[in-house]
Amino acid sequence: MEDILGPGVCAVLNRRVRYKEFDQMSFADMMVYSKLPEHPFWSHLEKKIDFSFADSLCSVLYSGRGQHPYAPSLKLKVHLIQIYYGLSDRQVEERIISDLFIKRFLGLPVDFFGFDHSTIGLDRSRMGTAMFKACHFYILAQMYSHGLWGDHSEKWIIDSFASNPALSKPRTYRLIQHAMIRVLQHLKRSHRAIYQLALASVETDGLYARTSVQPSTAGHMLAFSKLVAQAYGLLQWFQLEDVSALLQKELTEKERETSQHLQRILQDILEQNSRPVPPTDGDPIDSARNQTEQEIVFEKIPSHERAKDRLMSAVDPHARVGRKNTSTVTCGYKLQNLCGTSSVVLNVNAVPANEHDREAMYAMAKEVQSFFEISPRAMLGDTAYGHGLQRTMLATIGIPVVAPVILGSHPSKGYDLARFSYDKEKDCYTCPNEKDTVKKRHIPQSSGWQYYFEKTDCESCPLRSACTTGKAERRVFHSDYYEVYEAAKDYNATISGKLDRKQRMLVERKNQELKNDCGLERPLTKSRKALQLKGYLAAMVVNLKLTLRKLLPQRPGFIRRRNAISY
Ligand code: SF4
Repeated sequence: MEDILGPGVCAVLNRRVRYKEFDQMSFADMMVYSKLPEHPFWSHLEKKIDFSFADSLCSVLYSGRGQHPYAPSLKLKVHLIQIYYGLSDRQVEERIISDLFIKRFLGLPVDFFGFDHSTIGLDRSRMGTAMFKACHFYILAQMYSHGLWGDHSEKWIIDSFASNPALSKPRTYRLIQHAMIRVLQHLKRSHRAIYQLALASVETDGLYARTSVQPSTAGHMLAFSKLVAQAYGLLQWFQLEDVSALLQKELTEKERETSQHLQRILQDILEQNSRPVPPTDGDPIDSARNQTEQEIVFEKIPSHERAKDRLMSAVDPHARVGRKNTSTVTCGYKLQNLCGTSSVVLNVNAVPANEHDREAMYAMAKEVQSFFEISPRAMLGDTAYGHGLQRTMLATIGIPVVAPVILGSHPSKGYDLARFSYDKEKDCYTCPNEKDTVKKRHIPQSSGWQYYFEKTDCESCPLRSACTTGKAERRVFHSDYYEVYEAAKDYNATISGKLDRKQRMLVERKNQELKNDCGLERPLTKSRKALQLKGYLAAMVVNLKLTLRKLLPQRPGFIRRRNAISY
């Protein structure tokens, strides 16, 4: 647990905090609950999973003074209910008031209506991702003790799916406006007098101006230039000595940090989307610029020249635009899902949509392995997870990767790498025309070597038109992980390798549950942190459903008869 929460936090975990206790159940409550049929999920859950671990785990969040807080185990159940039904904070508040099954599961009296939706949201932020991760691991530990996962023959499977949160994707002009507004709005909330001073000192009339949607029009380009100049003016105003001193004196440290964070976002957006242009003669924009007497003119960087890893939202600096292929675009995040062949979700990770799938694999597997001291027989993944670097890294912690090997196809549709044979002793490739490579060059950024054939051989070759369309000699790429790939290809061709690839499909069912049942495909969140937190809660809900499916002798239906549970 120290790995997740840190030693300092663990040291105070045993501190006793008194939580709010509800009055003893009245006779009327007992009458109602005893007549209520068993719920197929909530009534059986507590018999199999003990949620009281959350009370000691989260005691670090409370001082022990003042009003007694609601028990964290109760609040964890509220968050699980929210994800199970896919409710907003207000809807979950209503549900707790009106649903007797939920009231009975939470141990609340029939007439209870104390939870406020804002408390639910605040509590989620207070617990944070570390606490929810710890809760997820506690539930996994209980599932392990029930024998639901962790078998020595178990394999782990990793896959990702797109998660498009409720983020708008504004155009560049609107994005800059939005980032500027956030800087000013924060200043207004923190210190109204300094905000008034900023408005008096910096031109901000471009903030609320609307422009033509045609980016090529002179009017739009001039408005864009003016807005960027004003945004830089605002950032420079914050750097003035007297303004810095004023902010230092009047704002709290947290307010200053938030302001600097928002300024950095604005700066990044400006640098990624605009650049200064030198004046040119006879340009129509120049004449417009002269009219407005601006000294510096900025232009929008053409989209193909902009950085790939640029911000798409002023609200969430971690969100990115990712492209799976030419038609599938994700605006926001991807959820990495690590589950076992036992169908238990072991770990989830929210990553920016443009991050390569394989990047998170090692850290996710290592986290589960080091926490539970359990290693799988293999890690199954698709081609995106089969890179040699990840195979080598996972091999260092004793986890072999089973994934298809990326075939070296030729960019201009010439002969692919499979048609060339590699001679390890001579360290050269032989082509279909029986010619050998004559030289090689290392390319560090591609983690491999480029082998070159003799130019005269290729020029006189009868197979040239099928082999290459380039003017130069044919080259072939030899990866630094050649040996690793060859071993992987050999294993993939075996019967075990083929069975492993079939087992990989099990992850799709878990992806569907997380995406559709738990609402992670289109979550109502606006930050990576909130999405990560929902990811852990969704993983818990999916695992709890599995626990009941596996542990109950038969799947409980909705039985309309008197309850056997005693209260
Ligand atoms: S073009 Fe060059 S590399 Fe290709 S088959 Fe002919 S000789 Fe070999």
